Amino acid sequence: MDIHEYQAKEILARFGVPVPRGGVAYSPEQAAYHSTEIGGAAWVVKAQVHSGGRGEAGGVSVCRSDREVAEAAGNLVGTRLVTRQAPGGKLVSRVYVEEALDIDRELYFGILLDRATERIVIIASADGGMEIEQLAASAPEAVVRMSVEPAVGFLEFQAREIAIAIGLRAEQIAPACRVFRGAYRAFRDLDATMLEINPLVVTASGRLIAADAKMSFDDNAIFRNPEVFELRDRSQEDPRERHAADHGLAYVGLDGDIGCIINGAGLAMATMDMIKVAGGEPANFLDIGGGASPERVLKAFRAVLQDRNVAAILVNIFAGINRCDWVAEGVVAAFADADVGVPVVARLSGTHVEQGRRILDGSGLPIIVADTLAEAAGKVVAAAAGRPLRSLPAHQPISA
Ligand code: GDP
Ligand code: MN
Repeated sequence: MDIHEYQAKEILARFGVPVPRGGVAYSPEQAAYHSTEIGGAAWVVKAQVHSGGRGEAGGVSVCRSDREVAEAAGNLVGTRLVTRQAPGGKLVSRVYVEEALDIDRELYFGILLDRATERIVIIASADGGMEIEQLAASAPEAVVRMSVEPAVGFLEFQAREIAIAIGLRAEQIAPACRVFRGAYRAFRDLDATMLEINPLVVTASGRLIAADAKMSFDDNAIFRNPEVFELRDRSQEDPRERHAADHGLAYVGLDGDIGCIINGAGLAMATMDMIKVAGGEPANFLDIGGGASPERVLKAFRAVLQDRNVAAILVNIFAGINRCDWVAEGVVAAFADADVGVPVVARLSGTHVEQGRRILDGSGLPIIVADTLAEAAGKVVAAAAGRPLRSLPAHQPISA
C-alpha cells in the first residue's frame, strides 16, 4: 500500500526527520490560505498522487505570491497527472503547499527490503533529484548501498559512514544521522517495504530537510498498523484491482491479452508461465481462492472482462477444496449474464470433474475444453491470436 507525500512527511516528522512546513489543500482557496499561514516569499505547490516523476510532469510548481499558489492549485486539482511512472495518469484530488526551500544540494536517501538477501538495505547518493534506477544504471559508483544486520539494526557508525560517503560536512553529520536513523525507525516500526527521500535537501544555510518523501507498506502487516491503513487513498489504486478486491478476489492487472481465472496463487503463476511458453501474455492474475461458489466464478468473469485488452479467457481449476461442478456452473452463468464475446478455454481437474465436464458439454456453449495445462495454454493463445480490441459496454459492475 502506498501513501501520499504529505502523509509520509507527517510520519517522518514524528520520527524526528525535519520536513518543510506545509498544508494540504483540496481547492485553490485552501491552497492560498496555507501559503498565507506558512508565510515567507515563495512556496511550492505539489500534486499529491501515488507516483514519482511529478516534477518533470508539471506536478510541482514554485510560486511567488498567494495568487500564483491559488492558480497552480487550480491547474492541478481535478486533473489527471500523467507521469513516467503512471502512464495512465493519476487523479489529483489534493495538492500540498509548502514553504519553498533555498536548495544548495539535493541528495538521495532510500530504504528498501531486499528479498534476495532478506535484509533491509539503505541506499544513498550525493546525486539526488533524479530517479535512483536511472542513477544506478548511469553512474553505479555514485550509489552507496548498506545492508542492515537484523540482529542489531541500523547502527550509528553505519549512518555516519553514509553521511561521509555522500559528502556531507563535519557539522552536518550528526543531523544527517538523525535523519537516516529516524527514517529507518519509521520504516521498521510501521512495516514499510520502501521509503524514499528524494531529494534530501541541504539548504543554503546548511540545514538538512526532506523535500520529498515516499513510503510503501506491506499489505500483510497493515492490521498491525491501523494508523497507516487509515491513510489509504483508493482513488490512486488500479480500478480493476480495487473492484476485484471489493469482491474478495485476488486480482492483479497485467499488460497482456489473455484473461486468467485460476484457483490458488501457485497454480496462477504456473499458468502464467505456461501462457508465456505458448507465446502469449497474461492480461491479469486472478485467484478465485478455495471453495469458490458459482457466483464467485461469475464475478471473476466480470472482473476479467472489464479489461478491454482481454481477447480470450483461460479458466484453469485444479479442484481440491473447490468443486469443478460449481466452477462450471459459474462459467455457464457468465455466458448467460453478459456478452462474454471472447473465446473461453476451460481446464478442469479434481473434485467433481465429471459433473463439471457434463455441465460444460450440456450447456451447448462454445467453450473450448482442455485436459492439461500445456494444452489449455496452447489453445487459449491460439484463440486470442489476432483478435481486435473489444469495445466495452457501459460500465459493467462486478456484482449486478
Ligand atoms: P517528484 O518529481 O515526484 O520526485 O517530486 P519532488 O518533490 O522530488 O520535486 C521535484 C523537484 O522539484 C525536486 O528535485 C526539486 O528540484 C524541486 N523542488 C521540490 N521542492 C522544492 C522546494 O521547496 N524548493 C525548490 N526550489 N525546489 C523544489
Ligand atoms: Mn522526488
